[in-house]
Amino acid sequence: MAERMLKFVGTPQALPEKRPAAERRRDFQEIYARYAREKAAEQAARCSQCGVPFCQVHCPLHNNIPDWLKLTAEGRLDEAYELSSATNNFPEICGRICPQDRLCEGNCVIEKGFESVTIGSVEKFITDTAWENGWIKPIRPRHERPQSVGIVGAGPAGLAAAEQLRRKGYQVAIYDRYDRVGGLLIYGIPNFKLEKEVVQRREQLLRSSDVRFHLDCEVGRDVTLEELRQRHDAVLLATGVYKARDIQAPGVGLPGIVAALDYLTAANRIGLGDTVAAFESGVLDARGKNVVVLGGGDTAMDCVRTAVRQGARSVKCLYRRDRANMPGSQREVKHAEEEGVEFVWLTAPQAFLGSESVTHVRSVRIHLGMPDASGRRTPQEIPNSHMNIEADLVLKALGFDPEDLPAMLRASDLALTGWRTLKIDWRSMMTSLDGVFAAGDIVRGASLVVWAVRDGRDVAERIHGWLSAGATAPLAVAAE
Ligand code: FAD
Ligand code: SF4
Ligand code: SF4
Repeated sequence: MAERMLKFVGTPQALPEKRPAAERRRDFQEIYARYAREKAAEQAARCSQCGVPFCQVHCPLHNNIPDWLKLTAEGRLDEAYELSSATNNFPEICGRICPQDRLCEGNCVIEKGFESVTIGSVEKFITDTAWENGWIKPIRPRHERPQSVGIVGAGPAGLAAAEQLRRKGYQVAIYDRYDRVGGLLIYGIPNFKLEKEVVQRREQLLRSSDVRFHLDCEVGRDVTLEELRQRHDAVLLATGVYKARDIQAPGVGLPGIVAALDYLTAANRIGLGDTVAAFESGVLDARGKNVVVLGGGDTAMDCVRTAVRQGARSVKCLYRRDRANMPGSQREVKHAEEEGVEFVWLTAPQAFLGSESVTHVRSVRIHLGMPDASGRRTPQEIPNSHMNIEADLVLKALGFDPEDLPAMLRASDLALTGWRTLKIDWRSMMTSLDGVFAAGDIVRGASLVVWAVRDGRDVAERIHGWLSAGATAPLAVAAE
């Protein structure tokens, strides 16, 4: 092993080739090329094969990273794929969009100055290679089971659960109110981070594995939760969180001020070939506009970079804390800066000015004060530091809360937590309704794809355990 691995001292870190910013600004294609086979092997060989691999500890799926790096370094890619797919339903998706700097790579113990192993890029390489070589096959369960599971939500949590349950032989049906499969993978995350074909080939795989999809089907409107409970032996709610947080400020109702997800969904639909009236009319098109994005998370980063690609005149990101204290990935900030986005740190909007539509964001400079109970330093306004920032499109990317699920699903007995997420028993992952389970963002609050996959896998195990035990003795939670 020692001969082939531990190459981090002599081999510098190298991510796959990144396209020049000037070229990236003109299209919506992914920004990184793929590793050539030799490069993937070379980079995987930088791993020092730690006895206690902190990369693995900090991967929500506890991927067996050192082992698949070693197999990649040895050119045994089919085995590397087997191992990597044993713990992750969508390794090529996570390899593309996990914030690795906060998860696996951020915890790689390679000595300071030598830079971490490029785990995400190798993971993506392994699975893209598996697709190209036809190693990824539809699921053919050894035994078909008569029981069926109805899943509400075709996002990563619902899809991961569907795959796991199908492997065990259950009959699986997925219901989604969207017209396409993927949840935020298809309509939230832009193409330049995750090309839509990557999601669509996963959908095709599930379809060929006899998972049934009912699209354009909103549970609570087109079918009731009660009907699903009658139709299936167990039901999984994986509906995500979609209620955009708003800002209370004078002028916030002016035309030209738009919720981030409406904007991103329109951009993704255009990329998929749809016609979107609000884009055609210019409302959701940044072309030629001065764009101001409010927020500092992943959604804000996606908005600024989409606006650049649509040909905005200028793009600014306003965030009330500083670079070190933003929730979004540092890698994304770097990409955005390269592409021409201006970050206005330590600045908060106070009012929106304009008569027919927005023309300026009135803002105030912020000073970070003492840490609050959560340990984060409290933003405090600096007196007399106001400025007006030119804006004819303002995108609000201030985070998401859950919708009112009991009302939406017409299920008043569905218990919620204080954060309005679904309350589950953490051992059984069952909600307050017998045989109704929940997973993903609707349980955690807005989170990450890799956590949705983890939850989807976990809940599939719990549903299997419950159905195998004769669907009895639920550890249901009490309604509050
Ligand atoms: P979702 O992906 O939201 O899927 C839920 C599905 O349920 C949707 O398809 C919805 O239509 C459906 N649904 C809801 N209600 C009903 C109903 N009543 N009937 C039928 N169907 C219903 N995470 C990362 O790891 N990396 C990133 O780079 C990243 N970027 C992001 C960018 C944006 C703009 C956003 C908004 C999020 C981003 N995230 C990212 C977070 C990530 O997308 C989510 O954490 C993840 O998608 C949650 O998965 P989920 O399956 O729980 O829900
Ligand atoms: Fe890293 Fe995400 Fe892959 Fe885990 S799933 S190894 S956190 S890129
Ligand atoms: Fe390899 Fe880094 Fe993981 Fe250690 S922490 S096993 S060096 S990838």
